[in-house]
Amino acid sequence: MLYFQSFTLDALALILRPQSLTDERRARMRARQIFQWVYQKGAVSWDEMTDLSKDLRSWLKENVAFYNINKKESKQSIDGTHKFLWELEDHKTIESVIIPANKEERITACISTQVGCAMGCKFCLTGVQGLSRNLKTYEIIAQVYELRKIAQVTNIVFMGMGEPLHNLENLITACQILLDPYSFGFSKRKVTVSTSGIVPAIEKLGKQISVSLAVSLNAVTDEKRSKIMPVNKKWNLALLLKACKDYSKCNRRITFEYVLLKDFNDSLEDAARLVKLVRGIPCKINLIPMNEHTGSVYKRPTEVAVRAFQKYLLDRHMTATVRISKGVEILAACGQLSSVSQKTCVK
Ligand code: SAH
Ligand code: SF4
Repeated sequence: MLYFQSFTLDALALILRPQSLTDERRARMRARQIFQWVYQKGAVSWDEMTDLSKDLRSWLKENVAFYNINKKESKQSIDGTHKFLWELEDHKTIESVIIPANKEERITACISTQVGCAMGCKFCLTGVQGLSRNLKTYEIIAQVYELRKIAQVTNIVFMGMGEPLHNLENLITACQILLDPYSFGFSKRKVTVSTSGIVPAIEKLGKQISVSLAVSLNAVTDEKRSKIMPVNKKWNLALLLKACKDYSKCNRRITFEYVLLKDFNDSLEDAARLVKLVRGIPCKINLIPMNEHTGSVYKRPTEVAVRAFQKYLLDRHMTATVRISKGVEILAACGQLSSVSQKTCVK
């Protein structure tokens, strides 16, 4: 049995064609109708799609199923952040998070792309867990689908569990579905893929789809970066920044994420190097004070150090924001997601 949420509109049209929809135009029209039924009108069965022929509906019933992700737990923080633990068909679990903005209308859904993560960053709880497997496209789409039932999600960030560019093919298919005007219809500016820096995959992503890119920089020398992010030993800062520059040419400005770790990368010398490093790349800097957890020796800098770092960047005319960490007490903030954390954290 195939899962409906695995298909882009083009792919769906292709499998519909042999079902007496011999010309491409008719098949695409049906595919559009079906996309609208499911993603816009919330249909959950083929029987509801009364404008499809009976024959087509019965073929679909036999061959294409709707994937339902199983909500195992959910927990809401006092700041409005809502964390969900999902159980997959093989009983593995993943998490996703709804993050409302304080003042604006924005509601962000933070989506996972893998069960665990292979990258082993030293400050990240998902990294401690190691990689179990990639998520299928339908498992990625199902998270968005379910979260949209709960909140008016306006933005998608692939910043949940996993390294999205390690699961490139399924990620790209999922993004195509998210951007499709007949399904969710997200604008490309509102879908952000965050990566630890898999250079060849950044290039591939840029060629195949136009979405916003966030890159976890986190340190400004190769020595320091390799210490906290093993990926840097393979693709160093020079290679990474070149890929970012190329990506920014065709797409939009890059967001550089910079996790501030106390007494490791939070000095003004680091800030000065950061300014030099990203010069010439249209970008903004998103500072994320380390969210502490028991899986890491690194600590969060003081508020004073965080603001001084930010001020240094602002004074040099850079766009630099501090990510106010939300949902910390329910372990829903950046770097705190884990399939194992639920045992202790989600009641
Ligand atoms: N794997 C991708 C996306 C998931 S991590 C990536 O690394 O970009 C999303 C963001 O959380 C990254 O910018 C990462 O650097 C940051 N992060 C990881 N652990 C963190 C922690 N303990 N505190 C704050 N930010 C963290
Ligand atoms: Fe994986 Fe991103 Fe965590 Fe690194 S920071 S271990 S890439 S999820």
